[in-house]
Amino acid sequence: MSSLYSMKIEQLSGIGSKRAELFHKLGVYSVGELLNYYPRDYEDWSDITEIKDVKDSSAVCIRAVVGSAFKTGYTKSGKFIARVAVYDDSGGAELVFFNNRYIVNMLKYGETYLFFGKASHTLDGVNMVSPVFQPDKSFTAVQPVYNLTAGLNNKFIINTMKKALLLLPETVNDPLPDELRQKFKLCDLKYAINNIHFPESIAALESARKRLVVEELLVLNLGLRSLKNRKRSTNRNLITSDYSKQFESLLPFELTNAQRRVIEECVGDMKNPDLTLNRLVQGDVGSGKTAVAASICYTTIKNGKQCAFMAPTEILAEQHYNSLKELLEPVGIKTALLTGSLKASEKDNIRQKLESGEIDLVIGTHALITDKTLFSDLGLVVTDEQHRFGVAQRAKLLSKGNSPHLLVMSATPIPRTLGLIIFGDLDISIIDELPPGRQEIETLIIDSSKRVRALGFVRDEVKKGRQAYIVCPLIEESESDLVSAQEYAAELMLNYFNDIPIGILHGKMKSAEKESVMRDFADNNIKILVSTTVIEVGIDVPNATIIMIENAERFGLSQLHQLRGRVGRGDEKSYCILVSDSRTQNAYERLKTMKSTRDGFKIADADFKLRGPGDFFGSRQHGLPKLSISSLADTRNLDLSQKIADYVIKDSNNLTDDRYRALKGEITRLFKSTGDETLN
Ligand code: ADP
Ligand code: MG
Repeated sequence: MSSLYSMKIEQLSGIGSKRAELFHKLGVYSVGELLNYYPRDYEDWSDITEIKDVKDSSAVCIRAVVGSAFKTGYTKSGKFIARVAVYDDSGGAELVFFNNRYIVNMLKYGETYLFFGKASHTLDGVNMVSPVFQPDKSFTAVQPVYNLTAGLNNKFIINTMKKALLLLPETVNDPLPDELRQKFKLCDLKYAINNIHFPESIAALESARKRLVVEELLVLNLGLRSLKNRKRSTNRNLITSDYSKQFESLLPFELTNAQRRVIEECVGDMKNPDLTLNRLVQGDVGSGKTAVAASICYTTIKNGKQCAFMAPTEILAEQHYNSLKELLEPVGIKTALLTGSLKASEKDNIRQKLESGEIDLVIGTHALITDKTLFSDLGLVVTDEQHRFGVAQRAKLLSKGNSPHLLVMSATPIPRTLGLIIFGDLDISIIDELPPGRQEIETLIIDSSKRVRALGFVRDEVKKGRQAYIVCPLIEESESDLVSAQEYAAELMLNYFNDIPIGILHGKMKSAEKESVMRDFADNNIKILVSTTVIEVGIDVPNATIIMIENAERFGLSQLHQLRGRVGRGDEKSYCILVSDSRTQNAYERLKTMKSTRDGFKIADADFKLRGPGDFFGSRQHGLPKLSISSLADTRNLDLSQKIADYVIKDSNNLTDDRYRALKGEITRLFKSTGDETLN
């Protein structure tokens, strides 16, 4: 099979440079890639309808004999037209073909064919326009339907595919070794490729599909694991004493049991001489991840090591810095903030102190990972709101120490199986409990006829001294009726809130501008913040009690959940108003889910079912390779591929065994598209 990837598509008979170019448009350059160009759908020719049972305007397959000579002529607009009568035991139908002079020689009088197409009832009886057909003697029950490009029709792709399939060697080198396939009941590669294109039956198609999907997910899974796998076998930053109890006594509140459990799990890893902490902490918005991270930092520092805490934005870094400094400086821990907007001399000063070991804990943004930042003895790296950081950035920060421990915090709840795939070999801890006494957030769904009333409600809250977010999906003038932040803010300032300080925030602003608006809001100089979703991550303004979201149907549920989590952080009752005029069932159901639960994991699951994984991860953002047949929404196969991955790793000592050479080759090939060279 692998040699077919080096065989150019032009080498197939009937493919010249012109046709080859059309195939290139489909992303197909080699014969191997052609074989991986799977059908988008299938026509089922096995389900034959009798002519008497044909319903009007339905796609059907009939088996009928050609029972007349062709009548030919021209339409008024000059199109060549050919008609022929066909019969089965139940009745007759007329077939009509346009602009096809060859048809009169292709269908032979007295022979039986299968005709597939859309049928309709006319005054003259059943009629089918330009059906596709195959001779009854040699028909294939299930016909593939490919995604096409102008100039390349389905029939041509089918014929080319048949030629390519003939080139498959007698025994194909299967990335899944025999005993693995037997163990997990998967068919072999040659059978799968033949049947995904030209299934012998529906059952054969299903087994082919399953095998190819599972293989692709397995390859993805193993690839991600090796991508993220660090040498973990020796703990180079062994922690000898646990200071979590001492840390808790510094806090103004008691930790929740969930927080304590997660801290224990982390410290357990750090104290194990054969492990390195390498953990993702997932916790819903407001579950108190920062306190968990702070506790781990405290223990690390008390054991004589430094910590680096990386946040995705300056404002978040600043928030963390302020709260950690307040907590830890009084007990003698030296903290510093390192962000891009500091003066060069200030940055140099902090970097010097990091290198000399004078600073114990540094909190910052990307400025932390530049080459200039060096540490004296970095023992722990914490990254907050992980989904904004690429794997590469994390690796860069880790390289600044001698295999430091890693703690990744994410507020994006991900269905468990998906998490396992995306986060590869990170262990996962979940904070599944909110601190007591959290304020209720009342969620309301309204249509735009109630907007003015809702704005009046916002005004009332502001009058009481609170603050509000108003979120809209777009920033520029919109062609549709989508409300854009700029336009909308202008209207609000003029008509509704001309006596209230309003700020605007959107993704096209420079980050310094954004930071300054956010800061004004955090400092309560701005009362109403009109923004796109850029506020989504992590920001903590406890005085904000109301969030109004325009065109709410446009957002993913997880996104809505994140947005809603911006309120209900203080002592006051909070409100989330979802504005939507969408009448579709799906939109309504999604918004109802928001009203019925505040549990991020439930919401993530619902979102996943309704929209697929696109919401969690733009594939670009995560550098995931493009999948050709599987989808991350296919949780059952995800589970199976996960199981097989565990088995393979154990069975072959990380794929070093020769039996898995072909599988390794597939991993390299899949990840080539992401440009990741670290895989081998
Ligand atoms: P998130 O998990 O969303 O990052 P934070 O760490 O920002 O949540 O915590 C949200 C708020 O809850 C903070 O003001 C924090 O001080 C407070 N908090 C954290 N843990 C507890 C607890 N066990 N009891 C009471 N309040 C807590
Ligand atoms: Mg947080």
